[in-house]
Amino acid sequence: MWTANRNRHARARSFQGWRSGIRRVLPWIPGEVITVLADLKARGFQAFLVGGALRDLLLARPPGDWDVATDALPGQVEEVFPDRLVLHTGKRFGTVRVLAGEIPVDVTTFRQEGAYTDGRRPDWVEFKESVVDDLSRRDFTVNAMALDPLAEKLVDPFRGRRDLRRRLIRTVGDPQARFREDALRMLRFYRFQAVLDFRGEAETERVIAQIAAEEPSLLANVSPERIRDELNKLLTGVAPGKGLRGLVWSGLLPIIAPEFTPVVKTPGLMEHLIATVEAIKPEAHLRWAAFLHDLGKPATRIEDDRGVHYFGHEQAGERLAGALLERLRFSRAFQEQVLTLVRRHMFPCDPGMTDTALRRLAAKVGRDALFDLLELRRADIVASGNHCHRAWRILSEFASRIRALLREEKVLTLNDLAVNGHDVMAVLGLAPGPEVGRVLQELFYWVTEDPERNTRERLLQYLEEKREEKSE
Ligand code: ATP
Ligand code: MG
Repeated sequence: MWTANRNRHARARSFQGWRSGIRRVLPWIPGEVITVLADLKARGFQAFLVGGALRDLLLARPPGDWDVATDALPGQVEEVFPDRLVLHTGKRFGTVRVLAGEIPVDVTTFRQEGAYTDGRRPDWVEFKESVVDDLSRRDFTVNAMALDPLAEKLVDPFRGRRDLRRRLIRTVGDPQARFREDALRMLRFYRFQAVLDFRGEAETERVIAQIAAEEPSLLANVSPERIRDELNKLLTGVAPGKGLRGLVWSGLLPIIAPEFTPVVKTPGLMEHLIATVEAIKPEAHLRWAAFLHDLGKPATRIEDDRGVHYFGHEQAGERLAGALLERLRFSRAFQEQVLTLVRRHMFPCDPGMTDTALRRLAAKVGRDALFDLLELRRADIVASGNHCHRAWRILSEFASRIRALLREEKVLTLNDLAVNGHDVMAVLGLAPGPEVGRVLQELFYWVTEDPERNTRERLLQYLEEKREEKSE
């Protein structure tokens, strides 16, 4: 009797929670977005807030982008917002971007879609009248809800709210079929676990492991850019370890990044990389550097009577990391940022280092990368666990020396030189080209020996002398 009563109370509470839950999110929807929904409804169309924004609102997380789903066709949406349209690159797929004040809102016609045979876009899309049809094409239950804030109505046919409460990622419909339509969803499954700190449904995990083992070619189809974007989100999430362990456990990781094949076979190494990722700040380039920093270890491992060594693993790692980042179509600038960190992560971190050596290190990696490098070393130490205290003390001493040098403006990079490439070209009569860079480097080395030399006058004089030497 008592138990039954308690259950009834629990049910009543959760029902209340359900209604007040919706009311609770309403004030957090920007007025501009509400206006878009209201304008569509005023013309007799249905209009719902859908996708990640709704999920994030229900989790009390700040939403990223705003998506609206409607039964209005793209042309009709354009008629409703004639003067607020942005671009309509997605129009063929039913998406029209509307500017709501400053906020871009993607308004998409209810649709169903076919498989992603080319790995980029669905083969076909078909517009539908019902929001439930639209929700059923979506990947996971927590992403497959729709809210009409004006009617205070939540459409949740796949029990996404329950999964939000259980903190569970579960596919809409049969995982086999959904991953076959679009294999990227297997990565998204782990991405959302990392970003939301949720767990994945066990049966789904098993399906992914089976696909990875028996049909790895399904993923070969998916475009590298889409894989890259998911990995970025996974790595910068609050629980990257969850996502990464899942990728390893399921066997997906070596398929999307064969560079990791020897890593997962080396005892302890993958765990070390994951721990480093978890210990480092959540910025994409840092997380990638942490993830990749020891990629070269398996290939360089040697064992002799003094122990195990990995001589040159940072160079070997840089090569492997470079190949991976290039294949995933990362920008040159991003690749360079990450590869510098991988290449230099074994920098001598020793309180006995001279100021000149410190300045030269700063010169090699650049002022910004210097602190990134310290951050990587800090995370590496935390992740290694052993000798932690001593190493930590050395590192923090080292960091304060660098900060002191920076305060005195003694740590210099090429950009801090009191002259620039134009001066070099003018004095030496050079055309733009690699020679200019070499001269700047030379000036720089000269200055790192004594920062007092970094005045325009003294550097121009140095260049004059160089010109005279050359003409002799
Ligand atoms: P984020 O906050 O990272 O943008 P999100 O949930 O908005 O997360 P998006 O990739 O922007 O994720 O996708 C928006 C919505 O579109 C998702 O919530 C989901 O409903 C749907 N969706 C996106 N990609 C797929 C896919 N590959 N298969 C099925 N549905 C998808
Ligand atoms: Mg989004």
